[in-house]
Amino acid sequence: MHKILIIESLHPEALHLIDKRKDVTYQLITDVSEENILANIEDADALTIRVSPLTKRALQNGKKLKVVARHGVGYDNIPLEECNRLGIPLALVGSVNSIAVSEQTIYLMMAVAKLGTIFNQGVKNGNFDIRSKYQPIELNGKKLLIVGFGKIGKEVAKRANALGMDILVYDPYLPEKGSTYRILSKLDKGLEIADVVTLHLPLTKETKYLLGAEELNLLKASAILVNTSRGGIIDEMALHKTLASGKLHGVGLDVFEEEPVPPDNPLLSHERVIVSPHSSALTDDTLKAMGVMTVKNALNAIDGCLDSALVVNPEAM
Ligand code: NAD
Repeated sequence: MHKILIIESLHPEALHLIDKRKDVTYQLITDVSEENILANIEDADALTIRVSPLTKRALQNGKKLKVVARHGVGYDNIPLEECNRLGIPLALVGSVNSIAVSEQTIYLMMAVAKLGTIFNQGVKNGNFDIRSKYQPIELNGKKLLIVGFGKIGKEVAKRANALGMDILVYDPYLPEKGSTYRILSKLDKGLEIADVVTLHLPLTKETKYLLGAEELNLLKASAILVNTSRGGIIDEMALHKTLASGKLHGVGLDVFEEEPVPPDNPLLSHERVIVSPHSSALTDDTLKAMGVMTVKNALNAIDGCLDSALVVNPEAM
């Protein structure tokens, strides 16, 4: 009997796929401490994991592991180098969450542009005249800089295109030539001319604080910044200083350097910052699709037919 260790729950339809197999069982753990993972990983043939950290020590104890199946596309909670060293493939869910995240990006962009929370609160507090104190902006014709032009960045471009935005792209690893959008070779240039900047790239050693004080200083005073990728790509303290200096029309954040975001994070008390709790991909449709894809990756690895296109380190297969 093969065992899949499920670290944090998955959509019932995903677990049902395992129930249908006579040769595979699963163990669901919700205590995500290193000790508990260590205690349950040794006899697992595959594991699935959502956002909790998987330590090198825990991974080393997974003597039979044929795959780490991540419920998502970011993998900054997984020690990739250790997966490589141990020859364990790390599988992701492909494009199943791209639409949900791109919709959340457009929502945050719109909410910031239209002063959603400020006007909502003002009207509910009986202050209809708030409309003469603040001014919303239009997105039509505005320059949108998309940083990271992978699966989600491309879905954002489609939707922003429909809004009449002028799309610019910065992605130094872009494989394709002849994109319909203007590709920039320098991030700084894009930051200087963009009306809206949105981030869709992974958090890595290279991208940590990609937007620090210096880069944020390049933004127009009227710019909008949206981050639905990963906290840590923006230096939050530098962002707070930028906002405190009166710059930026506003900021939309789904992700934070520390999650759950501590209540005393100064960005939370700034009226021009609109937030969500890393919830971009948590629609029912996407949770189901991500759960199913995660379990399929685990089962396929057990069956020896894991799709290498979904694997970050195919050389480990
Ligand atoms: P993807 O791999 O398809 O695209 C990422 C793109 O970023 C690639 O085209 C890559 O070339 C580019 N990139 C890498 N380094 C870069 C750099 N230094 N500068 C500019 N571009 C760079 O991934 P995706 O599916 O589009 O997802 C993007 C990110 O969104 C993920 O890494 C993940 O962290 C985040 N994400 C967040 C949520 C959420 O719930 N908020 C959900 C899914 C994904």
